[in-house]
Amino acid sequence: MKCAPSGANGAVFGRLLTQRMANYLPSVGMEVHAELATRSKMFCRCPVAFGGEPNTRVCPICLGMPGTLPVPNKAAIEMVLKTALALNCKIAMTSIFHRKNYFYPDLPKGYQVSQYGDTNPLGYDGYLEIPNGSGGTKKVRIRRVHLEEDTGKLMHLPSGGSGVDYNRAGTPLMEIVTEFPPDISNPTEARDYLSQLRQILIYLGVCDGKMEEGSLRCEPNISVRVEGAEKYGTKTELKNLNSFRSVQLGVAFEVRRQIAELENGGKVLQETRGWNEQKEASYIMRLKEEENDYRYFPDPDLAPMVFEESMIEALRAGLPELPMAKGLRYQSELGLSEYDTGVLIADRPWSEFFEQAVALGGEPKTICNWMTGDFAKLLNEKSLAPGESKITPQHIVDLTKLVESGSVSGKMAKELFAESFQDGRLPSEIAKSKGASQISDVDEILAVVKKVLAENPEIVAKYKAGNTSVKGFLVGQIMKLSGGRANPGLAQKILGDELENM
Ligand SMILES: [Zn+2]
Repeated sequence: MKCAPSGANGAVFGRLLTQRMANYLPSVGMEVHAELATRSKMFCRCPVAFGGEPNTRVCPICLGMPGTLPVPNKAAIEMVLKTALALNCKIAMTSIFHRKNYFYPDLPKGYQVSQYGDTNPLGYDGYLEIPNGSGGTKKVRIRRVHLEEDTGKLMHLPSGGSGVDYNRAGTPLMEIVTEFPPDISNPTEARDYLSQLRQILIYLGVCDGKMEEGSLRCEPNISVRVEGAEKYGTKTELKNLNSFRSVQLGVAFEVRRQIAELENGGKVLQETRGWNEQKEASYIMRLKEEENDYRYFPDPDLAPMVFEESMIEALRAGLPELPMAKGLRYQSELGLSEYDTGVLIADRPWSEFFEQAVALGGEPKTICNWMTGDFAKLLNEKSLAPGESKITPQHIVDLTKLVESGSVSGKMAKELFAESFQDGRLPSEIAKSKGASQISDVDEILAVVKKVLAENPEIVAKYKAGNTSVKGFLVGQIMKLSGGRANPGLAQKILGDELENM
């Protein structure tokens, strides 16, 4: 799905694009923070959760009380390693934590535990592939994947003044940064990058990917330069983007704002800017006059992490097939369309359900149609996830076999599926118990046809007089008399034969 800029801004962008964009090359670097889906925080046993009463998930360690000692969360380290491997990174076999020192009320210790340096982050020098828009892929190089801890949250109080909630402080946070010079050169690629990355994190089970709750945060830095210029333009960093749409709109807005600035003889300032969702415009938050000096130094409380080759290889071997590779395989091996593929791989349990059904002998396209049609509709109506319903891959395969063998019609199959969804019985069992199977026996249908013809002599006479359109009425009567169970194709044929012989 692609989003185009809309409204008045879109029109201005359109004009700028046609008149001037050809002369400017945008460059977009992406900095993504993902809160890890661990049960407890990075260095203490406080639980990780969203929302709740402020300052109820805190302890002396995450509040930075003097005399406390942090203990690293092993699950968090493994999650970052898995992500780094999935992003084709090199792994730092020895890696240390640093203290990033700055003073801000959301940081109870006065420093944030993070990882500094080019080859010290758990993962570095990798890449992620995104669709290139013409059926192939484009590599976006990843500079680093590192582990740090999240900060608290400042909030404005209704009674005036500000408060700080440390429930989030110390939550394991993974930072993923793209390489410089940037490989991303337009708003769509920025969006595609984030969308691929989010899907990978969800497949790996390392982050829930909820941008609206802030567990996945994206801060692109954007610059433009005149085509042919060697030097990259001054970057602005964009914050408060909480959906894919706002990422794409925000990057597009910054690109055209910077071009307009340059075209008007001004210059782009190194700023941190916020995104206003309602106005679909960015605004200045602060000017970055110089790089902050965070006085990084190795955290003396935390021992270096040292990994065995065998541990890394075991993690690599345990990686699931990633969404993009899965999608391409569905298209090439199973013959599915790009659209069907997109729907099936959107969610890992959903794609696993599909693969189990295919492994049970289901025809891929037919399985896909049932899943994305009736099954998705019923799940949606009941607000259920696939794993929460009574339908298993076996149910769908059972149903498609009934239709394929001609035992039930398409209409009957839909009814059987709805019943199956209710009580969990296999569609073939329900069909058997109801005697609901389709009649494909020639003699049985012939008997019904003869009865209908005998009961409707005037219609038969019309047909014989050349009014062949009345045949439809007779087919309707046959279906009615058989309780909808006659195989329609066979009924048509037998009726035709009988009418010719009369
Ligand atoms: Zn704690």
